[in-house]
Amino acid sequence: MKIFTLLFLLLSTLFAVRVEFEVLGSGGPEIDGRASASYIVWIDGKARVLIDAGSGSMLRFEQSGAQLEDLEVIVLTHVHIDHSVDLPAYIKAGYFSDRRSALPIIGPDGNRHFPDIENFLEALFGDSGAYRYMSDVLDKESDSFQIIPVEIDSSIPVRKIFKTFSLDLINVNHGNVPAIAVRVNIENQSLMVSGDTNNENKSLQKLAKNVDLFVAHHAIPEFARGYATHLHMTPSTIAEVAQTGAVKKVLLTHRMRRTLGNEKESLEIIHKKYKGEVLLAEDRMKMEL
Ligand SMILES: [Zn+2]
Repeated sequence: MKIFTLLFLLLSTLFAVRVEFEVLGSGGPEIDGRASASYIVWIDGKARVLIDAGSGSMLRFEQSGAQLEDLEVIVLTHVHIDHSVDLPAYIKAGYFSDRRSALPIIGPDGNRHFPDIENFLEALFGDSGAYRYMSDVLDKESDSFQIIPVEIDSSIPVRKIFKTFSLDLINVNHGNVPAIAVRVNIENQSLMVSGDTNNENKSLQKLAKNVDLFVAHHAIPEFARGYATHLHMTPSTIAEVAQTGAVKKVLLTHRMRRTLGNEKESLEIIHKKYKGEVLLAEDRMKMEL
């Protein structure tokens, strides 16, 4: 019996899916030496999921050795510039790549202030869009590959299933900006990216349960007051999500001048509630789950 157990453990280690998370951009919208929000989920050495595409993302994507042909989906947590501005650059680069399969682009719904994901892509590539010279990317008969908008508008997690992973997506509160958070599940491994949110409706708790990695946008310090607190989580909110979700590890990213230099205080506040490991993101940081 014992030998079978050992054999099973050995085989499951040998054939376990290798999942890595790479930070392409660890910053926010400022000019501060960091690319803006963007991340890759690597599965068995292939870049399968791109989450956000802020400024500088594509250069980091190239440096990481990722291939556009390997992507199965792009998720835009919201369409603020620091999360979405490199998207047209990826699509144009894709035109010169070998990619021919359609690429879903998941994003939030819209409101008076922001377009939903379909209208966002239409505003870029539609017949009256800014980049209408690339308008065939919205067609099935595209010369290169088609991009397909997928809108998420739900206060309970919505599951999307892909070949080697699934995504759970949910609306989060980011002031007047429609925004989503995403959990990526790869066999028995998982991670969650908060996107920008103050988590006032506790959406993150619905995705966080036992994730191996909680990627938390750390845009404000604990002492922040005023409008920023309607947009972003304080360190104590991050700690609450991490602790109640029993997450294995936390990665603080979307670092801005407001939090840079206050890391010691932020970490102390988080560790009061949450006893696991907390890391600070840098561009091109890559970790196995
Ligand atoms: Zn942001």
